[in-house]
Amino acid sequence: MNILVVNCGSSTVKYQLFSVDGKEEDFQVRAKGIVERIGIAGSKLEHKSDDQELVREREVANHRVALEWIVEVLADPKVGVLRDITEIDAVGHRVVHGGEDFSDSAVIDQEVLEAIKQCVNLAPLHNPPNILGIEACQSLMPGVPQVAVFDTAFHGTIPKQAYIYALPYQYYEKYKIRRYGFHGTSHRYVSQRGAQMLGIPLSESKLITCHMGGGVSFAAVKNGKSIDTSMGFTPLEGLVMGTRSGDLDPAIVLFLMEKEGLSIEEMDEILNKKSGVLGVSGISSDTRDIEAAAPTNHRAQLTLDLIAYRAKKYIGAYHAILGGLDGIVFTAGIGENSSYIRKSICQGLLHLGIEIDDQRNKVRRKEAFINSDQSQVKVMVIPTNEELVIAWDTWKLVGK
Ligand code: AMP
Repeated sequence: MNILVVNCGSSTVKYQLFSVDGKEEDFQVRAKGIVERIGIAGSKLEHKSDDQELVREREVANHRVALEWIVEVLADPKVGVLRDITEIDAVGHRVVHGGEDFSDSAVIDQEVLEAIKQCVNLAPLHNPPNILGIEACQSLMPGVPQVAVFDTAFHGTIPKQAYIYALPYQYYEKYKIRRYGFHGTSHRYVSQRGAQMLGIPLSESKLITCHMGGGVSFAAVKNGKSIDTSMGFTPLEGLVMGTRSGDLDPAIVLFLMEKEGLSIEEMDEILNKKSGVLGVSGISSDTRDIEAAAPTNHRAQLTLDLIAYRAKKYIGAYHAILGGLDGIVFTAGIGENSSYIRKSICQGLLHLGIEIDDQRNKVRRKEAFINSDQSQVKVMVIPTNEELVIAWDTWKLVGK
């Protein structure tokens, strides 16, 4: 069975083609790539398979054109891996927001598509391109089953006291204002792998999963279920991110809007695009640049200290609500690569049974234990694989 996994952003479509013969362990990536700059001058496609790599340029007006191009390349006689489009048996879509309706992945029918559309006001930047991708695949591959895998779904198990904000309750009822959490597919994957690496049943595990990339979120995962997570109603809440502020006193927003005469759009831009690592350092949103600058730039060093300080507070909080801890997992761009940030987060936590081994911590982008021998809590690096989870769920729902 061939499963196409599709992740549509506002101006990009990322894809991976998996084939599976019969077991979860058998999934193979046959090709992957990305179409960038959709609707902008200079659109291009990068495509990779086992023995081919190519970059092509072409005008791409919208997501449908991008998907047509992807399918064309996948079935290209020279560089493709399929004979034709009919060899695609199912499509799995990353959908950012499933609201309260979805605590699991779902086969997309008219009702499910309607429910995803209902969530547009909760994720106005993310759900619309996801919907465009679904509709384009439906018309390109009529009759081929499509599955939605939601970023929010894994956090559907968070208890009510963890997801309700202390606002007038009517706003939860009227607008569904609550904590949803994001990166769920990643937290789910690394918590499963983490329990496997620890050699304990997932159903008896207590883990903190730290997804640290451009966006950052931590989750407290008890017995395989998310019981709390740092992102909230939107991906703005929580830890320090590339360009997002994470937690702050909400009164600051009102203060700044008044003092600087800012519109809602301008304030939104400050919180989402100009804050975080970029805002504090004034250098870049990329922690590689900040690590390089830190020895001679005090704001770069402050940014790194702030990232680690905030992360420690979340680890302490999640340790408390989990009632103990078997393991901490680091994943995504920073979590998989930055020994410095991993070390500075875990430093001084031996009283919680957490200590890193400097030698083991040198690892990058591969599964490893990085805790010291005396650390009671195991600390792991696990590269995330959201596409694989989307392919698994698609196969479980329509192929198995
Ligand atoms: P992601 O969103 O998971 O693709 O992560 C992207 C982010 O990971 C980049 O913006 C960098 O901040 C960070 N990153 C990637 N590689 C490294 C590295 N070697 N050291 C520190 N940070 C890194």
